[in-house]
Amino acid sequence: MSAFDHTKYRPFPQVEIKDRQWPDKTITQAPIWCSVDLRDGNQALVDPMTVEQKKRLFTLLVKLGFKQIEVGFPAASQPDFDFVRALIEENMIPDDVTVQVLTQAREHLIDRTIEALAGVKQAIVHIYNSTSKVQREQVFRMSRQEIIDIAVSGVQLVKERVEKHPETQWRLEYSPESFTGTELDFAVEICDAVVKKWQPTQENKIILNLPATVEMSTPNIFADQIEWFGRHIQQRDCIEISLHTHNDRGCGVAAAELGLMAGADRVEGTLMGNGERTGNMDVITLAMNLYSQGVDPKLNLADVKEIIEVVEECTQIAVHPRHPYVGELVYTAFSGSHQDAIKKSLTCQTPEDGWNVAYLPIDPNDLGCSYEAVIRINSQSGKGGVAYVLENDYGLQLPRWLQVEFAKKVQARTESLARELQRKEIWETFEQAYLNKADKAELVSYKLERNGSDQLKAVVRQQEEEWQLEASGKGSLHALSEALKERLGQPVHITEYSEHALTSGSEAKACTYLQVQVGEKAFTGVAISEDTVSANLNALLAAVSPVLLANKAKVA
Ligand SMILES: [Zn+2]
Repeated sequence: MSAFDHTKYRPFPQVEIKDRQWPDKTITQAPIWCSVDLRDGNQALVDPMTVEQKKRLFTLLVKLGFKQIEVGFPAASQPDFDFVRALIEENMIPDDVTVQVLTQAREHLIDRTIEALAGVKQAIVHIYNSTSKVQREQVFRMSRQEIIDIAVSGVQLVKERVEKHPETQWRLEYSPESFTGTELDFAVEICDAVVKKWQPTQENKIILNLPATVEMSTPNIFADQIEWFGRHIQQRDCIEISLHTHNDRGCGVAAAELGLMAGADRVEGTLMGNGERTGNMDVITLAMNLYSQGVDPKLNLADVKEIIEVVEECTQIAVHPRHPYVGELVYTAFSGSHQDAIKKSLTCQTPEDGWNVAYLPIDPNDLGCSYEAVIRINSQSGKGGVAYVLENDYGLQLPRWLQVEFAKKVQARTESLARELQRKEIWETFEQAYLNKADKAELVSYKLERNGSDQLKAVVRQQEEEWQLEASGKGSLHALSEALKERLGQPVHITEYSEHALTSGSEAKACTYLQVQVGEKAFTGVAISEDTVSANLNALLAAVSPVLLANKAKVA
């Protein structure tokens, strides 16, 4: 029996807050960004990054515009220690970038952390301890006061140690880890104690980082927690409130956004959301969300290709093709109606009105994707895309079975050319496959008389040879298949048929698509002619052309 049973879970309690302000707020500026790719993200990898990979990712983060980058847990890991030393000794940290290192507030760990940072211009020391009810009561079995004492003595230790190294500009970040599971009054109490001990100023603020270490509630409750915290914490003007959301419920970005509306100043996250379990808040999505609202994200994400390449190489995790903003497929419309709407709206864009295109929340061009990529139809687009080109550009409405068949021919061609096909080339491929075959049989002339049944007399040409056909049947197609049956000595069954009028150029034409079964084999015929009857007859002749040729060889 399955243990699937919702009754063992409890709803997350509401926050008691009156007149909450955040629902009426709009985010009008970018937060202070802190990338935690190299620490938090790295910790979650199957194969943690090598020093070389970390350098590559660090260089990218600097290039994207991050001014605060958490680079590791140097006291806990030799590769992290070596990496921090390499950054400093190889002069890789620009003057306007601050590295951040995580450590637990224990004496030997703090000493080792300071040792790793020797010679750095500025640094953020990030200390944390767990404050949630479940951790206090079930893991540590400690009182609130004992937990506060751990935090405060840690701050005291850091303070004493960094004072011995005035050549570096030090900042402190404190995280009440598992903040979302901590009673709000206790979170404020412990943070007040930390702030009091550190003595921040308006010029050198302390960072209080409030992690949704596990995302436990809907984002509105998280926002309530942040607003409540901001209202009750003392010395608010000497504090930067930082968010570190996770994505357990799939709302890491939403929670961070609502948390910013609720008054937070700073966010921690990773590129593409790598991190423990379901990952950290995805910085790229949050930044692009701001961007799409006309807010400067203060990160330059224009070269998405490079970002993806570096992140995939360093994390060994492929970016999902549907990943917001950066996934390979997120700007490609497969459906013809979407493509049509996109095409139409693109032509009416004016700079004054701002971006307003159906199905495209942002201009893909901003992230290095061309419009062709959006509205193009290539082999990858499958039958729908190929059919879209033929219909939109050439007026052909291929039936589904032929879409499937023809898409394979397009794919074979793109594969042999090892590149995407232009629209014109898709048409040429169609012509070669169905319309312009050299050995095709076609009507020279025909006469159809209706006299009870349909009497068909036709002259057919194939390979310079002409011959006459004569038969009767129910309709011209039936009559022709009877005549062909006689000529070939075996039945010709029409298994698929569709036709439509064509309006391209001056004269209206008809197009017929059919499939016939002759013996064991199926053959496709397509014809565009002056009228429906000749389109039908030519399509049938085109379909059986190979059989007629084979038969001729046999007779000869
Ligand atoms: Zn995290």
